[in-house]
Amino acid sequence: MFSKILLFDIDGTLLLSGRAGYRALTSAFEELFGVAGGFDHVPVAGMTDRLILTEALKQAEVTADPAQRVRFHRRYCELFADEIHFPGPRKGLMPGVLTLLERLSHCDQVRCGLVTGNFAEPAQIKLEHFNLWRFFTFGAYGDDAPVRDDLVPIAVERAGRDGVTVTAATDVVVIGDTPLDVQCATVAGARSIAVATGSYDEAALRQTDANTVLADLSETDAVMELLLAGS
Ligand SMILES: [Mg+2]
Repeated sequence: MFSKILLFDIDGTLLLSGRAGYRALTSAFEELFGVAGGFDHVPVAGMTDRLILTEALKQAEVTADPAQRVRFHRRYCELFADEIHFPGPRKGLMPGVLTLLERLSHCDQVRCGLVTGNFAEPAQIKLEHFNLWRFFTFGAYGDDAPVRDDLVPIAVERAGRDGVTVTAATDVVVIGDTPLDVQCATVAGARSIAVATGSYDEAALRQTDANTVLADLSETDAVMELLLAGS
């Protein structure tokens, strides 16, 4: 039995990829559906990649059958693997992330996983690029369900298959940067820590059900204490 399962969001929480995802999505969309700027007015923060594509298709008034969606997914992943190497706005790790993950990796009773709207393949590419993939042993991704609320139970189930189980739902902690991250924790009965390093500031995140709102993850000792609270 482990004392905590920690489920981290990626974009705006652990890192920002400098709009690599946006560039890859936009190029793939234009190649396959002939529409430029397909994601310019699509809300992305906290959304799953699958829903982001659905919304872009709707806005462009394009219909795509499942085979076209699969082709889009494949092409997006290919382009993303290139785009991640280019510079972009605010590209990099969020403050304190590396130190925190290193500290957590030494806690035997805690395991870190992912809950992200990213498709699994770009999620792995992104984390490998920043040398963070090694810290995560399980996760739930945008391929697993269209709605983020369904991802926490999937991640917890996968953790269980790896022998990582906890006593109570509240021993699962979701760390994310949007109201949708907080919501997926609340729905699952998990605790949540919201960080204002993404698209929402602290005031906006305080309007949610988040158990704690932080400016960032840089106060390692304090964050460790919060994450391990009740252990
Ligand atoms: Mg995020």
